[in-house]
Amino acid sequence: MTAPAAPESLAAVFRRLIANTGPISLMHYMGEANARYYASRDPLGSGGDFITAPEISQMFGELIGLWLADMWNNAGRPEPVHYVELGPGRGTLASDALRVAKRFGLEPQVHLVESSPELKHLQLTSLPQAQWHHDLSTVPQTGAILLVANEFLDALPVRHLVKTAQGWRERMVVPEGERFMCIAGDRPMDAAVPEERREAEPGTIIETCPGAAAVIDEVAGRLASQGGAALFIDYGYDKVRDGSTLQAVRAHQKVDPFLNPGEADLTALVDFATLVPVAQARGCRWLGTVPQGRWLQSLGIDARAATLAKAAPEQAEAIESARHRLVSSEQMGDLFKVMGLAAPNWPDGAGFQPG
Ligand code: SAH
Repeated sequence: MTAPAAPESLAAVFRRLIANTGPISLMHYMGEANARYYASRDPLGSGGDFITAPEISQMFGELIGLWLADMWNNAGRPEPVHYVELGPGRGTLASDALRVAKRFGLEPQVHLVESSPELKHLQLTSLPQAQWHHDLSTVPQTGAILLVANEFLDALPVRHLVKTAQGWRERMVVPEGERFMCIAGDRPMDAAVPEERREAEPGTIIETCPGAAAVIDEVAGRLASQGGAALFIDYGYDKVRDGSTLQAVRAHQKVDPFLNPGEADLTALVDFATLVPVAQARGCRWLGTVPQGRWLQSLGIDARAATLAKAAPEQAEAIESARHRLVSSEQMGDLFKVMGLAAPNWPDGAGFQPG
């Protein structure tokens, strides 16, 4: 018997595709690269490529569970109710959140939207009661929805538009030696740039994420018609800005996004400001977009850390360092934002009040 052939590298696939049919868009490049990346490994944790808030501390998922239970309670404890998570990774956030929610009598049906077979396998172990979905379309259309997405939107492919002497063009990808590089496409793309941003210096880049807008559009429509609330947590910005934020991370280091596609996690900052009117256009309420540190502190992370440390004094130092990592402005506290959405007749939700 011969060993099964190793899958052809994505770089080789891209080279052949480009040779046959011409440059591919950056959006296509990033989408395919991440599909390959997530399908083949568990990227999380110290032995992996990056670490996320729920993997840093159980407090993160617990406070999210508390927030959801409080919302559901104040909305009159509707049934049926569904917990929906987009891109649940190892299932850690869901396990922590559902454990806390149960203490408040909230025991929702669990729906996980996951494209990676490898991660689905891990989620199966931690959440055997869950149902899996390839996308939101198969999640039940009746019953309130409590939805969470942590570091999900940042993995969706971005489109880059670049200003050239001939006008706006899409950034396309071609091979260059070992790596790939971006060039301006030939097709005019001026119509895709908002009018007030069209006048710009040559070389200006505008980054958009049509996939993120599509997810928000669908979630907001579901919340408006089914009732419920959603939390989107990601690193991103809430004021309009120019420029590329594309980056690649491998083994906890930034690497070249144009070398070895499919071998590193490609992400871009989330443009939260653009997503708000998308949600509102579907009749959904925007509760606010606030820094993660402030949100966790208003939900009581300091007190929770103190309780945990008292129960396990030998871990007090580790608990404090995890708390600090989640909330401090030099670490995740300011760069990460929490955006809350809710059905029109649902309550305001803790942590989004100005202050
Ligand atoms: N939320 C987890 C994991 C973040 S990594 C945590 O905080 O630890 C990104 C997650 O989104 C992974 O589970 C990945 O497989 C999933 N994902 C990425 N793109 C996706 C897509 N287009 N559809 C569904 N899931 C996707």
